[in-house]
Amino acid sequence: MEHIYSEFYNQKTKITELKPDVLGVVLHDDAENNNAKDYIAWLQQRMDNNELDKGWACAYVDKQTCYWFHPSSDVEWHCGDAFANTHYIGIERCQSKINGILSDKEFMENEEASFWIAALLLKKYQLPVNRETVKLHKMFFDTQCPARAWSIHLDNTTTNAENIKTLQDYFINKIKAHYTNIQENDTAVVG
Ligand SMILES: [Zn+2]
Repeated sequence: MEHIYSEFYNQKTKITELKPDVLGVVLHDDAENNNAKDYIAWLQQRMDNNELDKGWACAYVDKQTCYWFHPSSDVEWHCGDAFANTHYIGIERCQSKINGILSDKEFMENEEASFWIAALLLKKYQLPVNRETVKLHKMFFDTQCPARAWSIHLDNTTTNAENIKTLQDYFINKIKAHYTNIQENDTAVVG
């Protein structure tokens, strides 16, 4: 996997302040056809147009690339919820648009990469992999996100606490499979 880092990693000026505490990760489905590299220009345009308040996350992932847009230690605008933005790291899973350019099988390859990135982040912050540290966007905000995963893994069933736990547990098991294989120096790529 190729890791690309934005200018925020080379400059003092950031969009936001440090998170008071990092409690875990939120896995998002972007509902777009953009790949991770497409987000470099996409986010630049958002900055140029002063539209960052429309949202952004730390990491944008597809099966080949992770674009690290803003340090994981800093507050993000990824959940529309103050507590989540100040305590959780956002991972945008790219090309997740339903009936978009990727088949379910192809999207699941991007998902797998997102599980690896989630595992690296949790390891880096010395956090375990469980329902406290692995969250869905819809747990914090009235949104379909992660809509593609909900469609693939839960067949678009009703959103309720039990089904949310089912998808969380699916993510948790996938992340755990990577987590156990990660060595200390693997986390050096985390942005
Ligand atoms: Zn989301």
